[in-house]
Amino acid sequence: MITPVLPTYARADLEFERGEGPYLFTTDGTRYLDFGAGIAVNALGYSHPDLIAALTEQAHKVWHLSNIYRIPGQEKLAKQLIDATFADTVFFTNSGAEALECAIKMARKYHYAGGNPERTDLITFEGAFHGRTLATIAAGGNAKYLEGFGPAMPGFVQVPFGDVKAIKAAIGPKTAGVLIEPLQGEGGIRVLPNEALREIRKLCDEAGILLILDEVQTGFGRTGKLFAHELAGVTPDIMPVAKALGGGFPVGACLATEAAARGMVAGTHGSTYGGNPLAMAVAGAAVGLMTKPAFLEHVRSMGVKLSQKLAQLADEHPTIIDSVRGQALMLGIKTKVPNTELVEALRAEHMLTVGASDNVVRLLPPLIIDETHLDEAMTKLGNACKALEAKAAKGAVA
Ligand SMILES: *Cc1c(COP(=O)(O)O)cnc(C)c1O
Repeated sequence: MITPVLPTYARADLEFERGEGPYLFTTDGTRYLDFGAGIAVNALGYSHPDLIAALTEQAHKVWHLSNIYRIPGQEKLAKQLIDATFADTVFFTNSGAEALECAIKMARKYHYAGGNPERTDLITFEGAFHGRTLATIAAGGNAKYLEGFGPAMPGFVQVPFGDVKAIKAAIGPKTAGVLIEPLQGEGGIRVLPNEALREIRKLCDEAGILLILDEVQTGFGRTGKLFAHELAGVTPDIMPVAKALGGGFPVGACLATEAAARGMVAGTHGSTYGGNPLAMAVAGAAVGLMTKPAFLEHVRSMGVKLSQKLAQLADEHPTIIDSVRGQALMLGIKTKVPNTELVEALRAEHMLTVGASDNVVRLLPPLIIDETHLDEAMTKLGNACKALEAKAAKGAVA
């Protein structure tokens, strides 16, 4: 018999009741160290007092307003995001996929408004993840996510990950832009070299096409910069963001330059809940905290320390760990055993992580962790590796 909740997830049998900082507590009171953070969402940890205050204060005023009126929270948050980035304008959504949908529509409309309606195609990378709507599964190109859902939406051309030459070769009269993650998350913490991103920016400029950087997972400090593209010293034309933006409250945004947004006039796009006052209040508080230079400095310093400790762990457990990669607090452990085995062994140690493609275990801790949490994580990682080694030894004997 089908479960009351549509069974589209293979869920771990864990029921969490509350959270505090980087910890989650199950209904029976067991404490878990959360290095998954709701998949890079709870960047400020659980129950942050500033976010609770922002949410409850707004809850007493008004929850929902139609976008047929001005929404002060939107204007305030848009200004915060514009001041902190390349962008001139922002569209608010409820999720990452919707932010991508806005970005894809905007890229097509940009060329339509410029008299080139035939420029509809976006070049994407293999291994990409952009969401689960019909357009974003077509953009991601993952056969598993497309299977059975009818004809894939046209307008996406995939090239091998990081292959700048292939992008150059793929650019043609139908190309609207390039859509990539500066660092692939679901794809297995695959880092695009800074030089490659700079070359892609140049190719886009030369061809008069748009660069869309999906920073839904990399955004808001996770890579040690407010946005990952800052590491390469380039800026996109359009940037969908979400995940950490609301610190756990569902909200996304599509940021753009004035030029890229030229086609998006009144009536071209909309969302009932997008830019909802509750979301704006929480995201406003979250962005205020995440844009502080000291916050980003803290992320970089924790990132360096965690990377060093993980390199040592890899040396100590060469039959379990293949390599460690990533940026700051967006790290991946490529395992020699199935990655699910390490995720499970860590769960037995009461530490939460997330799997990714390419047999990688993702470490995406809340960005507010301190050294005590790093030490706790390393103890649990060490124990999990030892448990897997013991399991392998037993298997060898048997
Ligand atoms: C999570 C994610 C998305 C989709 O966000 P949803 O809120 O799940 O729709 C898109 N792009 C990237 C890079 C992501 O990590």
